[in-house]
Amino acid sequence: MEKIAVIGAGILGVNTAYFLSKAGYEVTVFDSERYAGMETSFSNAGQISACNAETWTTWKNISSGIKWMFRDDAPLKFNPLPNILDPYETYLRYKWCSHFFLTSLNGSQKINSEKGFEISLRSRELYLKIVEEEGLDFDFLQRGILQIVESESQLDELYAKKNWIENMGIEWDCLDKEGVYKVEPALKGNESIVGGVFTKSDASGDIHKFCVALSKNLRKKYGVTFKFSEKVKDISGNSNPYVVTEIDQYPFDKVVICAGVQSQFFSNKFKDGLIIYPVKGYSITIDLADSKSISSAPVVSVKDDTKKIACSRIGNRLRVAGTAELGGFNKDIRHARIQPLVEWTKKRFPSVETENFLPWAGLRPMTSTMMPVIGRSKKENIFYNTGHGHLGWTMGAYSGKLITDIIRS
Ligand SMILES: Cc1cc2nc3c(=O)[nH]c(=O)nc-3n(C[C@H](O)[C@H](O)[C@H](O)COP(=O)(O)OP(=O)(O)OC[C@H]3O[C@@H](n4cnc5c(N)ncnc54)[C@H](O)[C@@H]3O)c2cc1C
Repeated sequence: MEKIAVIGAGILGVNTAYFLSKAGYEVTVFDSERYAGMETSFSNAGQISACNAETWTTWKNISSGIKWMFRDDAPLKFNPLPNILDPYETYLRYKWCSHFFLTSLNGSQKINSEKGFEISLRSRELYLKIVEEEGLDFDFLQRGILQIVESESQLDELYAKKNWIENMGIEWDCLDKEGVYKVEPALKGNESIVGGVFTKSDASGDIHKFCVALSKNLRKKYGVTFKFSEKVKDISGNSNPYVVTEIDQYPFDKVVICAGVQSQFFSNKFKDGLIIYPVKGYSITIDLADSKSISSAPVVSVKDDTKKIACSRIGNRLRVAGTAELGGFNKDIRHARIQPLVEWTKKRFPSVETENFLPWAGLRPMTSTMMPVIGRSKKENIFYNTGHGHLGWTMGAYSGKLITDIIRS
């Protein structure tokens, strides 16, 4: 039996370990954290959204980014200043931005989005299978995702995508204001909403709970070894790689890198040319402790295209997440970035109490093309399953299967 190491126990790591172990490999997962799903896969918006797979490499986003550059509460924020404490971060940020710009110019957005839709759709199907076979508890809900907009021009843009998206096998139900209220009555009273789109087969769930529950099944049912609290310092050796940690070194036949934003440093070592930048996002998790808040909170997952904010019901909690910030590797939680999420909740669901919430910030491992990296390194027996940016939860299951198929081929 071939021995494979997986670096990282985030959503990509646990899904990779799942499909590898089912394919008969002897799998060991390393993570510097004490449990699975403690970094970016901890408190995201929760959406398993095949409908949301479009990449952001468009002129419109670039011009919005420039317009919003100096607004602290902007949904998309780019820090143009050099970081004197971390010259490498400055270099990576400029490199990522120039490649993002070129990708927006070269007209690949549509074709990249179509690949993203395909991965997301297949992944959604696989999650349903995993739910059935593994019986995991992660507050999974398949109640659809409702996209809402506040202007007629945005609504026209959404409606115009109907044929394109439906041809890929994804439902795209165009709604007027009344239709929006019917799908999610908790939005009634939001007069600024003009309409939206409902994708009824989309789902939501708690990514951290999923990672923890799957890692437990992997250990008990599939014999996967987890080496937590063990940071991988290096991958050495030639065709037979060694995983070198702070504690020991271990020989393997193959290694899969699922290290989120840290994957960049392995790519630098192996000269694989990946450009993965940490695009920061924030969330708040509101405790729906009282019955009024519970009954006033949405059950359908909502994506507000005007504000670039998404929310999902996670058991008796409401997760509200958004914003994209290019400002380095730090995970500082800034009040100015959290406040728009609180204000949005108050505006959209005024009867939900926002007294008790947990703020969080995480770093999306985002490539400059916004396409994930699922494949071989230039270095023999090293593979990547990383760089899923804003869609790691959505694309995780199929990406795990895909890298397993590549390794077997
Ligand atoms: C605010 C926000 C909202 C989001 N909303 C959604 C959403 O609704 N739907 C969706 O699909 N996606 C969403 N995302 C994106 C999604 O959360 C990420 O794409 C995904 O979590 C990335 O998973 P990962 O496994 O690649 O990285 P991570 O979860 O960061 O996992 C990488 C793991 O590798 C470990 N690691 C790194 N280096 C080493 C090392 N040297 N040694 C040992 N271990 C190491 C880390 O400890 C970590 O556990 C959102 C992201 C944010 C920030």
